[in-house]
Amino acid sequence: MTSKKTIIVTGGAGFIGSALVRYIISKAEHTVVNIDKLSYSGNLESLKSIQDSKLYFFEHIDICNRRKLFDVFKKYKPDLVIHLAAESHVDRSIDSPNKFIETNIIGTFNLLEESRSYWQSLQRSKKDNFRFLHVSTDEVYGDLKTTSDLFSEKTAYNPSSPYSASKASSDHLVRAWHRTYGLPILITNCSNNYGPFQFPEKLIPHMILNALSLNKLPVYGDGKQIREWLYVDDHVAALLKVGFKGKVGETYNIGISNETQNIEVVQKICEILDQLVPIKNKDLNSYQELITYVQDRPGHDLRYAIDSRKIKNELGWEPNENFDSGINKTVKWYLNNRQWSKNIQNGSYKLERLGVN
Ligand code: NAD
Repeated sequence: MTSKKTIIVTGGAGFIGSALVRYIISKAEHTVVNIDKLSYSGNLESLKSIQDSKLYFFEHIDICNRRKLFDVFKKYKPDLVIHLAAESHVDRSIDSPNKFIETNIIGTFNLLEESRSYWQSLQRSKKDNFRFLHVSTDEVYGDLKTTSDLFSEKTAYNPSSPYSASKASSDHLVRAWHRTYGLPILITNCSNNYGPFQFPEKLIPHMILNALSLNKLPVYGDGKQIREWLYVDDHVAALLKVGFKGKVGETYNIGISNETQNIEVVQKICEILDQLVPIKNKDLNSYQELITYVQDRPGHDLRYAIDSRKIKNELGWEPNENFDSGINKTVKWYLNNRQWSKNIQNGSYKLERLGVN
């Protein structure tokens, strides 16, 4: 067990960030300071289960506001920063890339600078133990051409979308702050996540919620794009392993080797829904009949696949869920928590398609 720490989590009201905050607070081992500007995808309802904990603090701050970041570092004196705040949806980055440049690049730069001046001001032992963990994506590597290739930590960056290019830029900044200033950083590059509380613009909740409303299920292109799907709690466990035990300056890829075509993901969701909530409509026999192929996303990468041997061998991380167990849990969660999604759909997002260009 690690000694009690104060952890700043940026983007803690988002999908992965909220899973991380819930997990840390539920273990009651560490204090968490959640910095989030509550963009369209930030949702404090995802943190209801822990919001009253004495170990939890929320700071409603944009990471582009450096003065406010300075105040937060001064007030809470963190031991670890886990940086997840980002604009995260590829389709939105096609429609309006500017926010991605602001938050993902300028925001990360601000956080690095505030972390650096705070870290440089620390006394010896606190300084030696401080860590900055930057949470990134496998999309920085571009796509894989052959079926035998895997992304390793040494794969050259080749991002395709404004989203992945902005994440790649932020990764480069983080590495440079280590090389130039010695800031004790770590970077993770993870595959696609899924699970409870994910904003419904992303593939899995998008399909579940459209199916439940008997809307068409829009599959991009031929649906043969290949991704690995990691259950969000397994990602959270990996982040804590890296944050507490990772080697300073290193990158860790996080994946699960369950390569699945997007169309197979959608078919699986339909299969589960057919069992759990069979359709009572004389014109439809299965949710699969709602599947419809639509124009592909511009610049859509064909295949991502990750070599995760480093985090497994060096830090002993293993995922608990396979795709079958994780997707079953996820579909059930959306069925049992309809109000969470309804509140989002009552806001600005109505399950429409984005990023057509
Ligand atoms: P998300 O969109 O659900 O959450 C992002 C959070 O960041 C939101 O709460 C939002 O309000 C906050 N935020 C956005 N701009 C901000 C700003 N300027 N200042 C402060 N807060 C801001 O995203 P997610 O899916 O939880 O992804 C979190 C991180 O993990 C991102 O950095 C993403 O690149 C990375 N990642 C995601 C996946 C995935 O499949 N979802 C996979 C690999 C890596």
